[in-house]
Amino acid sequence: MNSSITGAKTPLAQADPEVWSVFEAERDRQESTLELIASENHVSPAVLEAVGSIFTNKYAEGYPGKRYYGGCEQMDAIENLARERATALFGCEHVNVQPHSGSQANMAVYLAALKPGDTILSLDLSHGGHLTHGMRINFSGLLYRIVHYTVDPKTEVFDMAEIRRLAHEHSPNMIVTGASAYPRSIDFDAFAEIAAEIDALLMADIAHVAGLVAVGLHPSPVPVADYVTTTTHKTLRGPRSGLIMCKSKHAAAVDSRVFPGTQGGPLMHVIAGKAVAFGEALQPGFKAYQQQILRNATSLAEALIERKFRLVSGGTDNHLMLVDLRHNYAHVTGKAAETWLEATGIIVNKNMIPFDTRKPVETSGLRLGTPALTTRGMGEAEMRTIAGLIDDTIRSEGDAATAKRVRSQVRELCQQFPIAH
Ligand SMILES: *Cc1c(COP(=O)(O)O)cnc(C)c1O
Repeated sequence: MNSSITGAKTPLAQADPEVWSVFEAERDRQESTLELIASENHVSPAVLEAVGSIFTNKYAEGYPGKRYYGGCEQMDAIENLARERATALFGCEHVNVQPHSGSQANMAVYLAALKPGDTILSLDLSHGGHLTHGMRINFSGLLYRIVHYTVDPKTEVFDMAEIRRLAHEHSPNMIVTGASAYPRSIDFDAFAEIAAEIDALLMADIAHVAGLVAVGLHPSPVPVADYVTTTTHKTLRGPRSGLIMCKSKHAAAVDSRVFPGTQGGPLMHVIAGKAVAFGEALQPGFKAYQQQILRNATSLAEALIERKFRLVSGGTDNHLMLVDLRHNYAHVTGKAAETWLEATGIIVNKNMIPFDTRKPVETSGLRLGTPALTTRGMGEAEMRTIAGLIDDTIRSEGDAATAKRVRSQVRELCQQFPIAH
């Protein structure tokens, strides 16, 4: 039970009321708003305890059994647990649990697999790709020659024939698949076939869908890709961090590019949090959670379509959807909609949609996801209510009376579904 309920002062509240009051304000914000950002989630109290633990005190450069510091017995124990559980969860040949984030995981793989100047074929950022997939001023765009594929202009899904054509035309050293804003299932086997035809390496970045992959609700790239990277804090519902899986033949190179290649001491408290989260993901309840994420995404999508919203590709196969505002609110930017929704306690992010004509700071789209609401225990009925609240808010264009009414409905919903602490 948290201290704001018992009235007891925490060590932080006593030592630093200034920081503590910001913490309390953030706790209140998370409690009283609807989190629809597709890449966010609410971790369990057990994961929070691990991340806030004394494992933050320890230097453990190196790997279990081969550390550069004394006193690492429990560090080895926790890192081995995290590795074993990740291996059981995904069925990979080799795993490295040390990357500090998804971006660091991708950096280590590129440095292990490629030379500067090599060619990467990857998804364009404005079509749902990630910064680390070759954005011009990201390290990936600075170090490598980038060729992008996009979604098909008509279907808004990957056109595997076009991706094959680009692969044969540009002979990339590596093909990267995976996305930050792609509402459809990804056919990793098809990507692997193309990579094999041109003798390229394949990296699958499953940062968003990792939780679905872990329980078999999205195809797994693990059997077919050379490298699989992920974050651990999105659908996987662990601490903010990263993970690399790879074939055994790539293990030594990957490990050496994580440490000492790109990182120093691992964040052992976060690795402890990953061990706990992977343990949770191995429980039967986690599959039920992922199934509910999908049911909720389908309900939210259907309810938005009933209210005349257009969704990119017409719907969703996973935990997220992209709303194309141009269809029913042509003059409303993603930026404006995000701001109006935030005022009502509905937290979303503006997002580029494929072939968007607006700038990335404005956008014509919104990205909505259901992982965090599902963690709070919300179901299909709540998704239909929320679709209505989103529509009412955007239609009223920030009108104060509507915002007030929606804000109080959002508060009521949040009270019905408290976040577990
Ligand atoms: C979120 C994400 C990442 C990066 O994660 P960080 O932990 O923010 O560095 C990498 N790839 C994809 C596809 C993502 O969606």
